[in-house]
Amino acid sequence: MQFLKKITVLVLFFTVFNSFSQEYFFKDKNPFNPKIPSPEEFLGYAIGEQHTRHDQIVSYLYKLAEISDRAEIEVYGQTHERRKLVILRVSTPENLSNLEDIKKQHLQFVDPAITPKNYDDVPIFIQLAYNVHGNEPSGSEAALLTAYTLVASNSSEIQNYLNNSVVFIDPTINPDGRDRHTQWANQYKAISLVSDNADAEHNEMWPRGRTNHYWFDLNRDWLLAVNPESEGKLKWYHDWYPNVVTDFHEMGTNSNFFFEPMKAIGSKDPIMPKENYEDLNNLFAPYFAKTMDEIGSLYFTKEAFDGTYPGYGSSYPDLQGALALLFEQASSRGHLQDTDYGTISFGFTIRNQYRSSIATVKAAVENKAVLRKYQQDFFKSAVTKKTASGFVGYEFGDDHDQNRNKAFVDFLMKHKIKVYEKGAKFYVPLKQQQHRMVQTMFETYSQYTDSVFYDASAWSVSNFYNMKSKGLKSARLGKQITAATKLINNPIVIKSDYAYILDWDDYNAPAALHYMQKRGLKASAAFKKFSANTTNGTKDFNYGTVMIPVSKQQKPSEAVYEIIRQAQQKFRVPMYATNTGFSIKGIDLGSNNFRKIKEVKAAMFIGNGVSSYEAGEVWHLLDTRVEMPITKLQLHNFNRISLDKYTTLVMVSGNYGQLDSIQRKKIKDWTSRGNTLITIGSASKWLISKKLVKESLTKKPKDKNILDKSVNR
Ligand SMILES: [Zn+2]
Repeated sequence: MQFLKKITVLVLFFTVFNSFSQEYFFKDKNPFNPKIPSPEEFLGYAIGEQHTRHDQIVSYLYKLAEISDRAEIEVYGQTHERRKLVILRVSTPENLSNLEDIKKQHLQFVDPAITPKNYDDVPIFIQLAYNVHGNEPSGSEAALLTAYTLVASNSSEIQNYLNNSVVFIDPTINPDGRDRHTQWANQYKAISLVSDNADAEHNEMWPRGRTNHYWFDLNRDWLLAVNPESEGKLKWYHDWYPNVVTDFHEMGTNSNFFFEPMKAIGSKDPIMPKENYEDLNNLFAPYFAKTMDEIGSLYFTKEAFDGTYPGYGSSYPDLQGALALLFEQASSRGHLQDTDYGTISFGFTIRNQYRSSIATVKAAVENKAVLRKYQQDFFKSAVTKKTASGFVGYEFGDDHDQNRNKAFVDFLMKHKIKVYEKGAKFYVPLKQQQHRMVQTMFETYSQYTDSVFYDASAWSVSNFYNMKSKGLKSARLGKQITAATKLINNPIVIKSDYAYILDWDDYNAPAALHYMQKRGLKASAAFKKFSANTTNGTKDFNYGTVMIPVSKQQKPSEAVYEIIRQAQQKFRVPMYATNTGFSIKGIDLGSNNFRKIKEVKAAMFIGNGVSSYEAGEVWHLLDTRVEMPITKLQLHNFNRISLDKYTTLVMVSGNYGQLDSIQRKKIKDWTSRGNTLITIGSASKWLISKKLVKESLTKKPKDKNILDKSVNR
């Protein structure tokens, strides 16, 4: 026992004198409620000593919600890897018990139809969100400290913040990516910390932790909303419309700290009101400057980063009448790393993020009325503002692809854009609460004020969906589309003993084809157009139309029909039965211009040197949209792998210089046996330069205006 006591004393001694002791973070927030465990007490280590796993973060917030009447927790989604996405609401017990009523009052300020004036009476809504890039980990650790401070501090300062605000803490926007990095950093951490930049702890392996499960950058996905993380977030967002939203990042190890205002020219989103990035940012910046000055921490503003693309965590809220704030902290990427000025520790990075979190709450509370009035004006102008184009709205719709129409309409509705029927097409008026999101979806730009071009400097969502649209100068509103509106009206395919025809123009046709092939059906593709007599009348069919001849299947016609019926039901595709092979126009169904479609067995190179973004897109597309498995071949294993199992190999952009002449020959021989190689981006360039294919690259005109590279955020 004596020995054990000694150890305890030693451990305590160590904790007290460790640089990340509790005092290091929040000595000016005393006194704390002793009944509430600090993150350190809960986790068993001081914040900054270890990277905290997402499940531990969630457990701690649950604990706070369980034992304190200042906190409530909600689950707003689940990641691809089934990690919980949570938000902790923190305020006074009185505010929380009246939250429904407070929310109702708050939402009156986003309704353009009414004009409440009690700007100062309603607590301000602040969303503190962290760690969208998984390997920028200081944010989530700061979230724990912030949650603890707001829940447990009994200082008059914190009490005042809670009286005047409801704080929504989203500790980890990207838990899947965060845990990849957490696992990495912790597993390479040594007792004697290694600050050498070359150490494995500071250099993650492919695909690294920045992105989510399918290697998407979630800090681009607020607009596209492809992933469950963003879908949950958007749903939450349009339920609450916070006034201030934070987005905590990390940048290069040798930098210091960044807070807004951003670079003036770069942030000129033509859609965003100027007051946002001029007045509001200038109102908040002194708070951040002060809190950094107090601890002697260096920072910069105005020189870098842009808010042009509306799908960043620090720009989407700007298009919802909020003030979104970007923070960038120099990364310790690991627990301690060498810099030009000595070392940077994980704890130091966390402290800057933590102090900025508290300063955000302070600034929001002290400018409550300004922020509320701003949000009200923002939404009021949505219904009064005229656009430079002179359009009153946009018409869109594809004549042949109901699934794509539905996907686009569903997408617009995720952003609370109102969509109306317009004959066989759709119509979106500009005069609506989400006026600026309508502009975001349909307007295109060809001119930029900044010379720096970034991966997200240009976007056009209607084009992204390959959705033709046109601006209208006048229009009458049809019936509004709701979740209940039936957008897909393909007739149910009836049984045939002759053949079935699948229209290839539909977005889901590849998925339906794969589904049928997997269940043993043989299909052919049309190499010429034709018009057939179907059981639904005469239909015109395009190149690529899929035909399933019943007599060629090794199955009774009832079994064939069952698969056809299921495929149509699952993917809602236009599929027709016919009882004759004699076409009204063009090729007949027995023509040699119908060719057997091989079943695809797909593979793709991944690993060091390969663009994880592009690889992730291909994987996500096949896996979630086509429901087709794709084998992810690690480049370093290629020597041991035979390609004979695959019919299709995908090579996305990457550095394939690592493939030697024997490996290149392996790809070439496999291709010459009739298999398909798909290359994207720089992989095509590589293919041409290594003479695996006889093609040449077009020359890119030189652009004299490109001056420097933007900073990756
Ligand atoms: Zn980042």
